[in-house]
Amino acid sequence: MTAAAAPGLPAKMHALVSEFLATPGAVADAVAEFGSPAHLVFPQVFAENLERLRAELAARVGGFRICYAHKVNQSRAFVAAARAAGIGIDVASEAELAAALKAGFEPEHIEVTGPKGEGLLRALVGSGVTINVDNLWELERVAALADTPVPVLVRMCGFMGTPVSRFGVPLAEIDQVLAVLVEQRDRIEFRGFAFHLDSGEPAERVRAVESCLELTERAYGRGLTPSVLDIGGGFRQVFTADAGAFDAYVHALRESLAGHGEQMAWGTNTFGFHVEDGAVHGTPVFHKYANIVDAPRMLADLLDTGLESQGGRSFAQVAGENLLDVWLEPGKALVDHAGITVARVEFVKRTADGSTLVNLDLSRDTVTPADQEVMVDPILIPAETRPDGRDPARARPNSGAVGVFLAGRLCLERDLITNHKVWLERYPQSGDFVVFPNTAAYHMDLSAARASMHPVPPKLAVARESGVFLVCRDLDWHEVH
Ligand SMILES: *Cc1c(COP(=O)(O)O)cnc(C)c1O
Repeated sequence: MTAAAAPGLPAKMHALVSEFLATPGAVADAVAEFGSPAHLVFPQVFAENLERLRAELAARVGGFRICYAHKVNQSRAFVAAARAAGIGIDVASEAELAAALKAGFEPEHIEVTGPKGEGLLRALVGSGVTINVDNLWELERVAALADTPVPVLVRMCGFMGTPVSRFGVPLAEIDQVLAVLVEQRDRIEFRGFAFHLDSGEPAERVRAVESCLELTERAYGRGLTPSVLDIGGGFRQVFTADAGAFDAYVHALRESLAGHGEQMAWGTNTFGFHVEDGAVHGTPVFHKYANIVDAPRMLADLLDTGLESQGGRSFAQVAGENLLDVWLEPGKALVDHAGITVARVEFVKRTADGSTLVNLDLSRDTVTPADQEVMVDPILIPAETRPDGRDPARARPNSGAVGVFLAGRLCLERDLITNHKVWLERYPQSGDFVVFPNTAAYHMDLSAARASMHPVPPKLAVARESGVFLVCRDLDWHEVH
C-alpha cells in the first residue's frame, strides 16, 4: 500500500502537547531521566478544559458547581489543578478522599459518589462532605449514623429509555426515599437529586433531567427544600482529528473482515462486528472513538434544550427560576487531550502470516481503558537526535507508510496493544519512541496491572512556563508549583 492510500486514524491533539512532542529531545530527555514507558499529564490542558466548561455554565445558569471526578486518573497534578481553579471534587473511595483532603479541598467542596460500604459511610458521616447516596440502604445508614445533619444527594436511575444501571435508586422507589428524607430531616440535609449516565445520547440526559425536576417538585410538596440538581458526568471526549478518515478506516476494516483487501485484524478479532456469509453486521466495540461533539458543546446543548414537561422552557431557565444549582461531575471531559503515554520500540519482527509486529516495552493494560480497542494512531518519534546533531531518522531511507500491529511486553498471546492494523509513517527501529495520544482518561490507571512483576510506569507532569517545558514526577508536582 502506498502512503497516500494507507488507512489512518489521526488523533486530535492539543497544541501544547504537539509542541512538546515537536521539541527536539523532549521525549528522549524525559524518558532518559524517569524511564520508559511513562505516562505524561498536562495540567495546563486540564485547566483549559475546565475553563471552557465553566464558560458555558456561567453564560447560562446562576448557580453551578463543577466537581472533578477523580477516578478518571490518579494524577496528583490534576487534583492540584482542580483545587487551584476553585472547583469541587468527586471522590469514589477512601484513598481518593484522602488525596482530595491532602490537596487542600474543604469538605464542603467534596462530594462522594459510587457504592459505599459501612466503613466508608462511617468515615463520611460528620466530616462535612456531601454524600451522593446510591441506594436506600446507604440513605438509612447515613441517618442511623448521623448526630448532626449530613448533606446528602440522592442518585436516581431507571429513567424512561435508559438501559438498566447497577447504580442509583430506581424511580419506582421514590416514595420510600421521600419518606426517609421527611422522617430523618434532623439527620439528613437533603440537597437534591442526582444522576449519572454513561451514555453520550443527548435524549437520555434530557429525560433524566426532566425526571429529576419532577422529583424535585414532589420533594417540595413534602416540605423538603432541595437546592441542587446534579447531572453527573459522561461528557464526551473527541479523539479523532478527522471524522472522514475514521469512517474510511472503519470501512476498510469491514471490507477486510469480509475478505476483501489487505488483512487489518490480528488473529480472529472482529471488534464486535458479526461476519456472516461474507457480509459484516453490527456496531463495533470502539464506536465512541468516532465522536466529534466535544464536552462544552454537549453541556451547552443540554442546558439549552427546551423541556416538554416544562412548557418548552430550557433546562437552564428552569434551574434559574427555581433557584436550583446545577452540579456536574466531569471526569474524562476535564482530562481530554491532557495526557499521553510514551513507550520504546524494543524490536520489530515478522510473524508466520507475514504481519509486522512492533514490540514495545509496555503492555496493553497500560494504555487501554478496561481493555477497549483504542482507535487513534500512535505517533512514531525516531530515536533521539544525537549530540552531534545527526538525526538517525534522516539518515534512514524513508520507507513510506508501513502497516503493523503493536505488541506488548507480556509473555501472553493476548498482549497485543493494537488488534487492528496501524500504519506508521516509516518503518520503526529499536530505540524509537511510540506515543499514545490522549490517554489521561481511564486509559492510564483503570486497568493497569503489575503482570510479570513489571512495575507500573512512572507518571510525569509537564508544564510550559516562560516558553520552556518543565517535566517532573507527578507526585512532586506540589513541590515544584
Ligand atoms: C465515573 C463517574 C463520573 C465521571 O464520568 P465521566 O464519564 O468520566 O465524565 C461522574 N459521576 C459519577 C457518579 C461517576 O461514577
